[in-house]
Amino acid sequence: MRSPQSHPSAPGPAAPSARARRRAASRRLSALATLFVLILLPLLAAGCGSDDDQGPPPDRFDSDRAFDLIEQQVAYGPRPAGSKALQNLGPKLLRQLPQGTVQPLAGGLRNLIGVIPGRAPAILVAAHYDTEATIPNHVGANDGAAGTAAVIELSRAVAKELPEDHREVRFVLFDGEEEPAGCPDSQFLECALRGSKAYAAEHADEIGDLILLDYIANGGLQLPMEANSDSELWTRMRAAADEVGASEYFPDTVGAAVIDDHAPFLQRNVPSIDLIDFKYTFADTAEDTPDKLDRRALDAVGESVAQLVIDLSDD
Ligand SMILES: [Zn+2]
Repeated sequence: MRSPQSHPSAPGPAAPSARARRRAASRRLSALATLFVLILLPLLAAGCGSDDDQGPPPDRFDSDRAFDLIEQQVAYGPRPAGSKALQNLGPKLLRQLPQGTVQPLAGGLRNLIGVIPGRAPAILVAAHYDTEATIPNHVGANDGAAGTAAVIELSRAVAKELPEDHREVRFVLFDGEEEPAGCPDSQFLECALRGSKAYAAEHADEIGDLILLDYIANGGLQLPMEANSDSELWTRMRAAADEVGASEYFPDTVGAAVIDDHAPFLQRNVPSIDLIDFKYTFADTAEDTPDKLDRRALDAVGESVAQLVIDLSDD
């Protein structure tokens, strides 16, 4: 939190007294802080507890393990669809998905699929695991190693917490989200999104909700509703974030419309949301590296989506 301050700019004789004023102000502040901690905080906590016995926010999502998995992916270097690097990485990711299977695609591409079986319609949690084909040295820490790591970690985080008779939950890593070389921007929908288009064509009728994770871990993360996303599902996303104390990352505003892996599902009327901070400064550059990421942001998204999946699984 930052409070507005006046900055006395006059140097010289005024300076000592300005310092003194600041010291006095800071003493008053710490006295207020002590008052808050000693008296008001217990009162507030008691007030909450008397309504419904709320403990600390849940801690289901292991952001350290997810962050390690981001770094492991980045260590493979650029990983465009069809590259040797992505073919080498694939089996390592697949092993970490529950009941992992592969959907083979044209051109040797592969979607990686995990499932926690349950009732129809399934909840789909997805990201893409390829990086840019046309940007030299693009290693995609935020785009899409972070989403990929979060999908895998979410499969562990929710497994033990789903209610009895829960809906099926699928965890899918799409190949070929990024456009191949020679695809003009205006043709993105036609030549990119290869994995999601193939998966939607075969399985959209089995899916009740799609939660897509794209730029979710950058410093200063803010996730307004992506404008193509389903607003009802987004309302539940924000409610889940609120439940786990992460609402600061989900402002009640609408951001840019993005053509992403949710497009083929939206076209088939599957309620879908795309978590993407489209203001991420290092998107589509060689600077999209792990040092630009924030573990707290990654954790907040992980905990929020875990809560949303658990909530939806009881519908
Ligand atoms: Zn992406």
